[in-house]
Amino acid sequence: CADMAMYQAKSDGRNTYHFFSQEMRRISEKQLLISNHLRYALAKNEISLFFQPKIDITLNQITGAEALLRWHNPELGDVPPSEFIPLAENIGIISELGAWVLQQACNEAMKWQGLTKQRLQVSVNVSPQQFRIGSLLKEVKKALTVSGLPSDQLELEITESLLLQDSEQNLSQLRDFADQGIRLSLDDFGTGYSSLSYVRRFPLHILKIDRSFIHGLENDLNHKVLVDAIIAMARSLNLELVAEGVENKQQLEFLRQRGVRTIQGYIISPPLNPEDFRKFLKNEHQSSRSNPRR
Ligand code: C2E
Ligand code: MG
Ligand code: MG
Ligand code: MG
Repeated sequence: CADMAMYQAKSDGRNTYHFFSQEMRRISEKQLLISNHLRYALAKNEISLFFQPKIDITLNQITGAEALLRWHNPELGDVPPSEFIPLAENIGIISELGAWVLQQACNEAMKWQGLTKQRLQVSVNVSPQQFRIGSLLKEVKKALTVSGLPSDQLELEITESLLLQDSEQNLSQLRDFADQGIRLSLDDFGTGYSSLSYVRRFPLHILKIDRSFIHGLENDLNHKVLVDAIIAMARSLNLELVAEGVENKQQLEFLRQRGVRTIQGYIISPPLNPEDFRKFLKNEHQSSRSNPRR
């Protein structure tokens, strides 16, 4: 880091070193501040779980929801998960946070029973670190037992980085989950380096097309080509597909034309607090009775 700064100073003029080190210090001070608050966030009830609906666009029916962490701190305001999840991993609290998410998500999913006629899935994001620690299976089983949620209504969203570590331990944990009837979804697909031959080695059920490919899809030929390739890959591996981050009609129609069944995104709903999510389910149920689906 010091070498880097010196190099910058030489090549860009004498003020650069000063600027660079100040910038670095500002970032790490901010991260330190956030980390210090994060340690107590759960205990202080600052953390909550939101739910974003997933919709089957062929049946026009909700299939479940993804659980997404939210953190509001009185001093820091709303801190997005993209910022605090990496910090939670760094300071060693991701396992505790992850166990909390699993339990809350399963508890909440039990409250959805009876609000719709179809059985709903709940998806939980799992960090690669939770696999490394090794207590994940135990925590998942506990969340299911305590809540009473059937295991086939729980879906775990894992990332390509977990597969790329290519460890026997990760593979055997994934097999354990699949054996329990838990569905496994490969999140943010296309952003990492997984190839077809690679992905097939793992007991996956679902591929999620990353929202960066859906974004601007309607005006971007490259994105269309990539999404087509991902769809073809999922088909050849016999995997279900979910498109995340669908924001407009053109994107939805593009996906519908290609036979993608399940979507998630602002065009349907943003992530909702548990109460609003249950209202969403009730409205969905009523509208499905008053205008029967085609
Ligand atoms: P993700 O798992 O890929 O989650 C989808 C993200 O896309 C969420 O961001 C969601 O709010 C956002 N999103 C959904 N629909 C749209 C849309 O139409 N347009 C746009 N622009 N965005 C949309 P969020 O909630 O900020 O979460 C970011 C990431 O943080 C998640 O990405 C996931 O990787 C991580 N995360 C969230 N909750 C948890 C958790 O409980 N555990 C772990 N390990 N990671 C989590
Ligand atoms: Mg996810
Ligand atoms: Mg994703
Ligand atoms: Mg993503």
